[in-house]
Amino acid sequence: MATTMLQETETTPTQTSTKYVYFFGGGKADGNGKMKDELGGKGAGLAEMTNAGLPVPPGFTIQTEACREYMRQGAASQAVDRQMEDALRRLEQLQGQKLGKGDNPLLVSVRSGAKFSMPGMMDTILNLGLNDESVESLAKRSNNPRFAYDSYRRLIQMFGNVVLDIEKEEFDKVFDAKKKQKKAKLDTGLDAKALQEVIAEYKKVVKKHAKRDFPQDAHEQLVMARDAVFRSWQNDRAKHYRRINNISDDLGTAVNVQAMVFGNLGDTSATGVGFTRNPATGDKEFYGEFLMNAQGEDVVSGVRTPLPILELQKIMPEVFGQLREITSRMERHYRDVQDFEFTIQDGKLYMLQTRNGKRTGRAAVRVAIQMVEEGLITKEEAIFRLEPNQLYDFLVPRLDEKSAKIEVLAQGLPASPGAAVGQIVFTADEAVAKAGHGAKKNPVILVRAETTPEDIHGMEVAAGILTSRGGMTSHAAVVTRGMGKCCVAGAGDIEVIEKTRQMRVKGQVFKDGDWISLDGTTGRVITGRLKTMDAKPDDPELLKFMSWAEPFRKIGVRANADIPRDAIQARAFGAEGIGLCRTEHMFFGEEKLPHMRAMIMARDEKERRAALKKLLPMQRSDFIGVFKAMDGFPVTIRTLDPPLHEFLPRREDLMVEIAVLEATKPKSPKLSQLRTMLRRVEELHEFNPMLGHRGCRLGITYPEITEMQAQAIFEAAVAVAKDGVKVKPEVMIPLTATLKEMANQAAIVHRVAKEVFKDKGRTVDYLVGTMIELPRAALVADEIAKEAEFFSFGTNDLTQTTFGFSRDDVNKILPTYLAEGILKQDPFAVLDREGVGQLVRMATERGRKTRPELKVGICGEHGGEPSSVEFCHQNGLNYVSCSPFRVLTARLAAAQAAASEKLKVEGGRTK
Ligand code: PEP
Ligand code: MG
Repeated sequence: MATTMLQETETTPTQTSTKYVYFFGGGKADGNGKMKDELGGKGAGLAEMTNAGLPVPPGFTIQTEACREYMRQGAASQAVDRQMEDALRRLEQLQGQKLGKGDNPLLVSVRSGAKFSMPGMMDTILNLGLNDESVESLAKRSNNPRFAYDSYRRLIQMFGNVVLDIEKEEFDKVFDAKKKQKKAKLDTGLDAKALQEVIAEYKKVVKKHAKRDFPQDAHEQLVMARDAVFRSWQNDRAKHYRRINNISDDLGTAVNVQAMVFGNLGDTSATGVGFTRNPATGDKEFYGEFLMNAQGEDVVSGVRTPLPILELQKIMPEVFGQLREITSRMERHYRDVQDFEFTIQDGKLYMLQTRNGKRTGRAAVRVAIQMVEEGLITKEEAIFRLEPNQLYDFLVPRLDEKSAKIEVLAQGLPASPGAAVGQIVFTADEAVAKAGHGAKKNPVILVRAETTPEDIHGMEVAAGILTSRGGMTSHAAVVTRGMGKCCVAGAGDIEVIEKTRQMRVKGQVFKDGDWISLDGTTGRVITGRLKTMDAKPDDPELLKFMSWAEPFRKIGVRANADIPRDAIQARAFGAEGIGLCRTEHMFFGEEKLPHMRAMIMARDEKERRAALKKLLPMQRSDFIGVFKAMDGFPVTIRTLDPPLHEFLPRREDLMVEIAVLEATKPKSPKLSQLRTMLRRVEELHEFNPMLGHRGCRLGITYPEITEMQAQAIFEAAVAVAKDGVKVKPEVMIPLTATLKEMANQAAIVHRVAKEVFKDKGRTVDYLVGTMIELPRAALVADEIAKEAEFFSFGTNDLTQTTFGFSRDDVNKILPTYLAEGILKQDPFAVLDREGVGQLVRMATERGRKTRPELKVGICGEHGGEPSSVEFCHQNGLNYVSCSPFRVLTARLAAAQAAASEKLKVEGGRTK
């Protein structure tokens, strides 16, 4: 008895109860459209289409669990093999054909298909089942030997590349040589005989590189192809795509094996792709292209120029009518724009695929509105039809990619979205000189290894900024995002040689005045002068769309804005206050920087007070402008927090300047000034300026700085209040770690407030709070809240100090960390929920224990990133604050976060 039981458990491993393979065909499918987890998007779609009675070539889907097993065990289990054989037999019966055998051999395609669409990231093999014998049958049956040999050579090429890991170029070399030999311009110029010769050569390529023959056994081909598709889940392209699209590495892909249909059987055959609405504009028009007598890859590979899909109506009116009818039925069925692939074989239409179509932000908004008006979807559903980041499309100019051929020179970080086209300049001064004014305006791209505050005047006038170093929170990235100016940062392949005014990349040299185009949305650096298309922030459709989303939003959205111009911009995008005014940024201007520097370089209190006196009126007038722009909305002003190095001239630059002057004009009076400056720069030099004399440490060691700033804030507040402007300043102390630091600075602010109010005979309401940017501050948040009336998480610094990553240097480490999967995302871009997020949650709870009404916000770069906004919503923060150009994105992300809770739909960002 015991033995029998043992035998039973041994022979009944759990896998056998798993259904690995799902058949579809003959009007019925084992699976259905809801089974994306198991069948992947494509497999679920094929099942759904089959069940809906659409003309889909039959086949079967091997589910994702088989891929996960393959990844765990390095091989497919016997159960998978067995179920696949069963499904193949069923397919052979249904088709009345045998895989790779007989007069009418069955040929199949083998394609990947994950839960989330990953277009082109994984591998596909077509024409599987062809071998030396079946190719002859196909030639006979189709009465088209050229087609048969062409299909066979394509199989060997795809199989060689995808399954046997042979470089595609090895096959291209053979093919191109044959074309040259036969003087054929196009691929179609090779006849059957030439293709037979190509096949013979291809086989040699396989033998040479894979050290084996191309498998003649069709079943062996199928098993090998299936396993290769499983492996392709782990290729670099696919990993990269998953990372940037937040797709889990654990999902695995399904494999779809489907009977081949041929669009290249002659003049009554064709193949094409299309969308039920225009994916670029959202217009309701049948959109797509096709090629007569061609196979799928010909349409996308660009070898032949396809025809617009409307032309099909003239050539095959009946098939066109059927295609329109089927695709609009599918659109109604899926209630979304469909992106479809079809093949016409001998005048009969087959639908190969249909899925929700990717579209631009502008198209997404237009389609969402149309579909609500058509009664296809509700307004609540409509607000999820747009990824919040896609709203950038309305705010920034874009490259007109159709206007010219695109040659991507280098890939950098998409630091600040939009497009910029201009002539290269290498210094800020040259940018100002060349950019011109008014009618003489001339677009320039400022190209630097990295930018510093000294470049600000050049950044102001440049159309776009390109840097070869620095990450997503580098100076260039942060400042340009604030300006809403296009920036590509950290394009490591580019070498910037300021001295000789050269930019070198991929063996090419670019000089002053050469034209380049930047795409800050994707990080591409492109050769030449592309056209651009304008921004449309007041687009009526956008406003309508946002008016549907906004009522759901619970969390406030403020902007990080430092100067009145940015504050006005932020209001226009719907910011409900300013969450961070970095006062030191007010001094980035060319005429202001020297005073700021004088203040930093002062040797004693007297010198410092003298410099501060000059800064006071400038600061006051900027605050007045900001308060006016925010009329009635809160404005959070941070006391000075400059890591000093950001404001000082570079030691190396000073040394060079001195050496040049010593050699050329040794008597110049400037020399002694420069030497003094160099000495002071050396005294102030810090090894870790980010952890150095900055934040509240500055105001504690030099209380007169905080005094001056408080004076400027309250004098400005009183002045605008007298003019009838509602004003509520929130003074924010940066980088605190202890209660006593907070108390020290709060005492100064309260004292100065009292003095100003007494002096001006008027009071205004205000708060004093702190940034939480250090793990210690998060840990003792209950203590700090005794003095702080609000918290704002500075998650740039909090990420820096929690990970111990320098925000300026992290780019040396990050690419490897991401490639190795050590980090899933750049934690400076997407809030690290597990670590930094835990500190945010804990500090909020602890702070509110002391002060239940404590207002809590976030003002790091994460405040405009959708997943981080969702996290802030879920954890009860009062508001997020972000660059003006991300305000719309934050508003939609916050609305979606709240709506997904209310409507119980998948928000999709929770990680
Ligand atoms: C932060 O650290 O998140 C922050 C907003 O301050 P800054 O970026 O100016 O250091
Ligand atoms: Mg900070």
